[in-house]
Amino acid sequence: MRRPFAILWLTVTAVLIVASRGPATVRAQQPPADPLRPAPNRRADEGRGPFKTLVIRGVTLIDGTGAPPTGPVDVVVSGNRITAVRSAGTPGVSIPANRQPQAELDLDATGMYLMPGFVDMHVHAGGAPKNADAEYAYKLWLAHGVTTVRGVPMAGNALTVSEKQRSAKNEIVAPRIVNFQRPGSGWDKGVVDSPEKAREYVQWAAANGVDGLKLGAERPDIMAALLDEAKKVGFGSTAHLQQSGVAHMNAIKSARLGLNTVTHFYGHFESLLKDYVVQPWPVEMNANDEQMRFGQVARLWDKIYEPGGPEWKAYLQEHLKLGTVFDPTFTIYSAGRHVMAFRNADWHDKYTLPSLMDFYTPSRTSHGSYWYNWTTEDEVAWRNFYQVWFRLVNDYKKMGGRVTTGSDSGFIYQTYGFGYINELEMLQEAGFHPLEVIQAATLNGAVTLAEPKRQPVEFGVVRAGMLADMVIVDQNPLENFKVLYGTGAVRLNDKTGKPERVGGIKYTIKDGIVYDTKKLLADVAAMVEKQKRERAAKPTTNSRPDLQVGRRPTGRQRPRFFKRLIARRRSLSLSKP
Ligand SMILES: [Zn+2]
Repeated sequence: MRRPFAILWLTVTAVLIVASRGPATVRAQQPPADPLRPAPNRRADEGRGPFKTLVIRGVTLIDGTGAPPTGPVDVVVSGNRITAVRSAGTPGVSIPANRQPQAELDLDATGMYLMPGFVDMHVHAGGAPKNADAEYAYKLWLAHGVTTVRGVPMAGNALTVSEKQRSAKNEIVAPRIVNFQRPGSGWDKGVVDSPEKAREYVQWAAANGVDGLKLGAERPDIMAALLDEAKKVGFGSTAHLQQSGVAHMNAIKSARLGLNTVTHFYGHFESLLKDYVVQPWPVEMNANDEQMRFGQVARLWDKIYEPGGPEWKAYLQEHLKLGTVFDPTFTIYSAGRHVMAFRNADWHDKYTLPSLMDFYTPSRTSHGSYWYNWTTEDEVAWRNFYQVWFRLVNDYKKMGGRVTTGSDSGFIYQTYGFGYINELEMLQEAGFHPLEVIQAATLNGAVTLAEPKRQPVEFGVVRAGMLADMVIVDQNPLENFKVLYGTGAVRLNDKTGKPERVGGIKYTIKDGIVYDTKKLLADVAAMVEKQKRERAAKPTTNSRPDLQVGRRPTGRQRPRFFKRLIARRRSLSLSKP
């Protein structure tokens, strides 16, 4: 850039930024606009039902409790409740016709499999500049069988509360929304920086539509106050014990204070360090450099007590006694062990928005896009790390500990919905039987959400009396979880000699409303197509102007460039895998 122009540009931009901020007093009174756009109202042609009587006939049931598949059965639904699960005959013998009851909608699911709707315990719905529309994430979740999401947070508090209510009334096409927020989110009293303020925030949150706490490795006195107050108001809690605070608040210390769930892996290995009390970081470490941050975490795998040894067992046994839930989110770090595979995943072209793909692309400012110089050595470290992490989670399951499924998609090449199915595959890789995976994905999530409220579960298992949240697929998911991906699984057809894609969930039923998942996916594909067309017509709509090599924005576009940069920096602070 030539110098006089550069100076002029910087001056104009500085003036524009200052002008756009306005007086500080005005800003303090107005909550910042949420970068996420609420979903449009559900159209009449989106989803069928609920029905006075809906019968799903002849299906093989995987009920979510861990029981083996059984069928054929008829599942009877009235309104938004399952009212009966009835035997429809014996395998190998033709099913008797004209079975009762008569239904308003008959779904012939002969040869198909039915499961409870999945519970994704760790989500964020995105927002500009990744995906401006909540509808994008919602439809991908539903298309992958997710009927309940726990936002940690899903979006800012005001927006999440209103989307949660709209979803509960089925005014929008979306899973059930459970609203967990970080301390201080949504209120106007600033940072929670004392135990008194911590208690005050929890009371405020309970009165303002929050369902539970997403915590970090908080200061010990604040952590204790938050968790104690949470128990009083029936809040659940889940913590990402980030590296900056883990030295004083690791997983076992948090659990002793009453934390319900440890999400990701942060805090586990720091509780098991063998020769140190902090991770032995390289001396040039800078935690604000994301390649260092995400590269170095994997180096913990051989700094801990021997997996399976006495300290390891004692650690897990104490968690078991305390009732800690592990929500590993294996999927969200999985590109770290093979970035090429996820950068080129089957679904990106059709279902990942170009703006989301931009966000995943190596960058020093987009959160989780830490591939500045990702090496073989980094991937080897992550592969070793995963072996130890898998063993920790599987050993916990083996001794009776509860494990749930969370995806944290929208970062690190994991697109909503698809990333969730990857989590199911990775639990199996960790040593779970496929039925244990389904149990983790359904009943375990439902129990974990209901327990702090001291309420019985209402979903997560298919039986009479439960809410009608279900997933139907025309392939056996226990044989191959890949059939649950929206893009299906590739299989060679021996009749034609050609490979073809099989599966993809057929129907997702939420609250008695039947969604044809192929339609949901077509809507998402249309959003992706639309953005591609807009970009082709107007190349400067790229949400990552720094990626447009050789293009220099014109004077008119420069302020937009800065606005986007600021929006992106804001979206970083919302959520950190
Ligand atoms: Zn997260």
